[in-house]
Amino acid sequence: MNTSSGNTVKVLLIEDNPIHVGLVKTLLSESKSPFFQLQYAGTLQAGLNQLDAAAVDVVLLDLTLPDSEDLDTFIRVRSFAPTVPIVIVTGLDDVKLAAKAVEAGAQDYLVKTQLSRTSLIRSMRYAIERTRVRDAEWDSPMFRLAQRQFLKAAQFMGLDDNIRQRLLFPQRTLVVTLPFRRDHYTEVETVFGYRVQHILTMGPTKGGIRYHQDVSLGEVSALAMWMSWKCALVHLPFGGAKGGVRIDPTGLTSHELQRLTRRFATEISPIIGPDKDIPAPDMGTNERVMAWIMDTYSQEKGYTVPAVVTGKPLVLGGARGRNEATGRGVVYLIQEAAKHLKMNLSECTAVVQGFGNVGSHAALFLGELGVKLIGVSDATTGVYNRHGLSIPSLLEYVAQNRFLEGYPEGDHISNEELLELKCDILVPAALQNQITAENADRIQCKLLAEGANGPTTLEADEVLNEKGVFILPDILANAGGVTVSYFEWVQDTQNYMWTLDEVNQRLKSILKDAFRRTLNRAQKNQFDMRTAAMIEGVERVAQAKLARGLYP
Ligand code: NAD
Repeated sequence: MNTSSGNTVKVLLIEDNPIHVGLVKTLLSESKSPFFQLQYAGTLQAGLNQLDAAAVDVVLLDLTLPDSEDLDTFIRVRSFAPTVPIVIVTGLDDVKLAAKAVEAGAQDYLVKTQLSRTSLIRSMRYAIERTRVRDAEWDSPMFRLAQRQFLKAAQFMGLDDNIRQRLLFPQRTLVVTLPFRRDHYTEVETVFGYRVQHILTMGPTKGGIRYHQDVSLGEVSALAMWMSWKCALVHLPFGGAKGGVRIDPTGLTSHELQRLTRRFATEISPIIGPDKDIPAPDMGTNERVMAWIMDTYSQEKGYTVPAVVTGKPLVLGGARGRNEATGRGVVYLIQEAAKHLKMNLSECTAVVQGFGNVGSHAALFLGELGVKLIGVSDATTGVYNRHGLSIPSLLEYVAQNRFLEGYPEGDHISNEELLELKCDILVPAALQNQITAENADRIQCKLLAEGANGPTTLEADEVLNEKGVFILPDILANAGGVTVSYFEWVQDTQNYMWTLDEVNQRLKSILKDAFRRTLNRAQKNQFDMRTAAMIEGVERVAQAKLARGLYP
């Protein structure tokens, strides 16, 4: 559940009956994740005062109060706090009235005598989600960042205004709601899912699927847009796409994850396919999830279609080296940048934020080059050791304990502190929006290699450029993943598999070429590396659009 304060949901119960207050309190107190912070008011006026004083995620409202009755109660709360979702709690005899309140804009109603922990929590969760969908699907900071980066590049390159308008929004978006059964057989969850295809001009579209509690249409659209520039930058015959489900996958069992994935695959199957749109893993998904999507799609077709996804297990037609490709690519590019900057990698220190697929592989391959890893983090903690961290020991610890929390061979620091450590190479490989105007000035690396998508805001970019930090921008730095995905798709469509050596050699030569073109453009036109990389990508897409002409 995505709320104003992370995993804590602030609930305001406006209810004058102490027995019902006690009941709600008991039901919510049993939940640890999310944690419910309940405040209550016995009159409408007291409720409005509390709404005024504190940020509230959801209101539970009894319509019959000592100082207000019927629909008037709802209307007064709604007009006082128009953006806060409201769930009516009603007696059995007032159900008709509660339904009217829903018609007037309340998100749901619950009958007091039928309240259970599941129904109460679920109703509030959906109320928050639906309000968010209504208000904020497109209004995502990430989408604004992607659009602003694109507009900056468009301005520098003098992009044709017709094409500029065409590329600013995705060409095709699909929003689905889908149910999946919990292991407790009678519990059915409904979640939001997305698939966005930014440009259909370049060939099939390509992009990962993300499972995360913050996923929204805007976020997925931003990621799809970046995929377009990334594919064009490294000269792959794909347009950009991305997908996601708004859910925290860490709270799901393996069976639940499979049911969710299969239903999501079915919902998006009309618009995916080897010649249409080819998903891959992203945050919260992995090769097992890809195998389920491939199997579901194949079952629907009646024959096996390996090329519908990439990032699959090897035995199903996955490419050798795909799992580690993004991290490997990050490190190939760091090697190129180090040559340009005349940095001797065996004397360098590195900090990596995020220890999932991208972060752990980047750390591993940096270690193989003799770089000393002094800091690493994941969602639970950061770990710092100025003498150097043992990567095999970190990998083993995470394999056993899932997270870095409690790792014994270093000091535990926050993610904010980690980013500000003095080091030669910083690799953000977790989330977007990590280096901002707020902390950019305190970033102390020489080389920033963006394993994650969108980790740096435009304002932070300016500060870092002024400080002389050399940036390997996300669309270049993490392009290794989609490049080996492309190899996987090529191999699947030809039924001819390559060796690991062939994969890595081809990956290296594609990334070296993209680095050289980006650096040349940056140096020739005095652009920063991000703008140069963006223009490399946007220019190719614009050329293709012009060459194809306009239909009809
Ligand atoms: P992942 O789910 O495998 O790992 C994410 C890591 O980030 C985990 O260690 C998680 O604990 C950590 N994390 C989550 N929240 C955090 C926080 N608030 N602070 C610090 N760490 C946090 O995901 P991934 O596939 O490694 O993707 C990471 C980033 O790389 C994403 O931005 C993704 O879009 C990008 N990316 C991934 C690929 C790929 O092939 N997997 C390709 C290109 C780009």
